[in-house]
Amino acid sequence: MASHLVLNNGTRMLILGLGTWKPPPCQVTEAVKVAIDIGYCHLDCAHVCQNENEVEVAIQEKLREQVVKCKELFVVSKLWCMCHEKRLVKGACQKTLSGLKLDHLHLYLIHWPTGFKPGKDESGSVVPSDTNILDTWTAMEELVDEGLVKAIGISNFNHFQVERILNKPDLKDKPVVNQIECHPYFTQEKLIQYCQPKGIVATAYSPLGSPYTYWAKLEDPSLLEDPRIKAITAKHNKTTAQVLIRLPMQRNLVVIPKSVTPERIAENVKVFNFELSTQDVTTSLSYNRNWRICALVSCACHKDYPFHEEF
Ligand code: NDP
Repeated sequence: MASHLVLNNGTRMLILGLGTWKPPPCQVTEAVKVAIDIGYCHLDCAHVCQNENEVEVAIQEKLREQVVKCKELFVVSKLWCMCHEKRLVKGACQKTLSGLKLDHLHLYLIHWPTGFKPGKDESGSVVPSDTNILDTWTAMEELVDEGLVKAIGISNFNHFQVERILNKPDLKDKPVVNQIECHPYFTQEKLIQYCQPKGIVATAYSPLGSPYTYWAKLEDPSLLEDPRIKAITAKHNKTTAQVLIRLPMQRNLVVIPKSVTPERIAENVKVFNFELSTQDVTTSLSYNRNWRICALVSCACHKDYPFHEEF
């Protein structure tokens, strides 16, 4: 299997990346350093994670040590919901670039379709804005024109929202990627089947089922402990995590598992030397239970909340 996919603007995107959401910032620098040492060049970041400086320190050190060349890196970041207003998009991107000390991003995504006003109200809650996602997209396209980003995409968009962008009358740049939650309990077949023929690659986030999220409940199902996934694992002499990472790769998805544990970071990259059978992949799709981890339920009343639709 090739290590990259070609996006609809001709850019090559590495199909395996390191997720950087959730760990305390103090663990991020070390994790990224370990990952780059091992060979990860694709880093999935987001401004809202507030760890750009920690990622930057690791990148700069590895560039100085010549472990990796700048041109080998593929750094993704995301526009946060409070910066959807057209006039705020460029400043948000520049802030991310200066946080990461990069002169361009390889891919910049609209993190969620839901826009919020900058800041919070007196009670500390976010306030929905009435921004139009098409205006935000125009501002994203301007970032490409100005050379601040090589490619632009979206995240957590349902198919109607993807369609709105594709039908934008003056569309210049199609989204190259829709980054979505995807794992055997939430297989996203319909959304992926909608995106792929249109040249939009799906990136699978939370591929391991995001264990240990702070909102996880004891009764939540555990993908890493699922005996049916373990049965597939046993056939290949691989770990459950490796199978969970390989599954989206064989569906032509990009996948971005997160770990701050050096042994796991190393384990998660050893997914290029085995092949699951078509039957394994099909069987894993039958485990779907529409179990969404990142449901953003607090925003369910937002006019652009993406998850009321079937897909
Ligand atoms: P994952 O499904 O990647 O799971 C991460 C968890 O699994 C961590 O707690 C990690 O522990 C553990 N883990 C990693 N490797 C192994 C292994 N080999 N064996 C056992 N446990 C393992 O969840 P995420 O939700 O973090 O998703 C991955 C990335 O996707 C995020 O980091 C982020 O970059 C992106 N994302 C994007 C979203 C969006 O809205 N666009 C939303 C959510 C995620 P430890 O670190 O302790 O090793």
